Amino acid sequence: MLDSLIKWSHREYGDLPWRKRRSLYGTLVSEIMLQQTTVSTVLKHFDRFLGVFPDLESLAKSTEEEVCAQWQGLGYYRRARNLRKAAVTLVENHGGEFPQTIDELKSIPGIGDYTASALVAIGRNEPALAIDANLERVLSRLFMIKEEKGPKLQKLLYKKFNNNEFKILFKSAKPRDVNEALMDIGRVYCQARKADCHLCPLKKDCLVFQKKKKPLDFPVVKESKKKKESHELRLLRVVVKSSDKILGYEKEDQHWLSGQIEIPTFILESTDRTLKQYPLLKMTKSRYSKLPMVKTAITKYKIENYILELKKTEFQELVKGIEKASRYKYFKFDVQEHHFSTTTLKVLKKLGFEV
Ligand code: SF4
Repeated sequence: MLDSLIKWSHREYGDLPWRKRRSLYGTLVSEIMLQQTTVSTVLKHFDRFLGVFPDLESLAKSTEEEVCAQWQGLGYYRRARNLRKAAVTLVENHGGEFPQTIDELKSIPGIGDYTASALVAIGRNEPALAIDANLERVLSRLFMIKEEKGPKLQKLLYKKFNNNEFKILFKSAKPRDVNEALMDIGRVYCQARKADCHLCPLKKDCLVFQKKKKPLDFPVVKESKKKKESHELRLLRVVVKSSDKILGYEKEDQHWLSGQIEIPTFILESTDRTLKQYPLLKMTKSRYSKLPMVKTAITKYKIENYILELKKTEFQELVKGIEKASRYKYFKFDVQEHHFSTTTLKVLKKLGFEV
């Protein structure tokens, strides 16, 4: 069934470094990097990361700070911390070996359903389906499964896999090839908002295409998920320098960009009154609108970042009554040593820092 698809996948993507040189460790690193990050971005970082941390042992011995510094450019730093956590557990409790089963793999902190399945299917080349958003969508269209996108559909797909309902996929193809080729097709032709069925090597076997249904109707996307609310946000970003250091703080786990270093930030105005990421600061629009500004966006927020440069004493005065100035500390402005958030780097660049 998947012959032409797999040939296409080997031809187009067989050269990806994590596919050319296989190891369970390489699969773990690449699969964690590829979650929420494009292949082209991961390509820029994978070999370099493996150059610094070539195996589980070197990763387990490293500090969180060292791993996050090497994660620069990949974003979502929680993944870097989880990857290190998994390496520490594998080395300390499993003698540096990967357990065999999906359930055992899932018992390791930092390894969830998807990664455990990917380690078995892609790393070990044993029957499993690593169901991410791409596989979820492609399988839903290929087998015309009309279920709501998300956990419900994933549960149903795992159930169908365990009941052998997808055995046709594995009839003449290896688990590794099946998973990787389906991921590739989901990324390239069978996208969430666009399906290029006429170019797709799966079209002969795809039920949605054969039955002339609309691919974008599969899986079902709830109306509320389609229309994401968006909010306008105006933030004040404060830069306080001391020789080669800048004042900042490490973002907490439950906040955006957790683990990254950000300069002191305050909400000036927000159309979302529930936002609790930063303290509120009263400043008139006529004052902040004269400041240099950079635009950014995160999740549902369109952000205008106004930049104010202050001396330490002026900063202490600014935050008086709002929060403790002592929650901030100085970080050497060295992107190899610390993982500053992208917005922090943009703000500093705007002020002429060499970033
Ligand atoms: S034929 Fe169309 S709907 Fe079916 S898998 Fe290919 S791109 Fe997706």
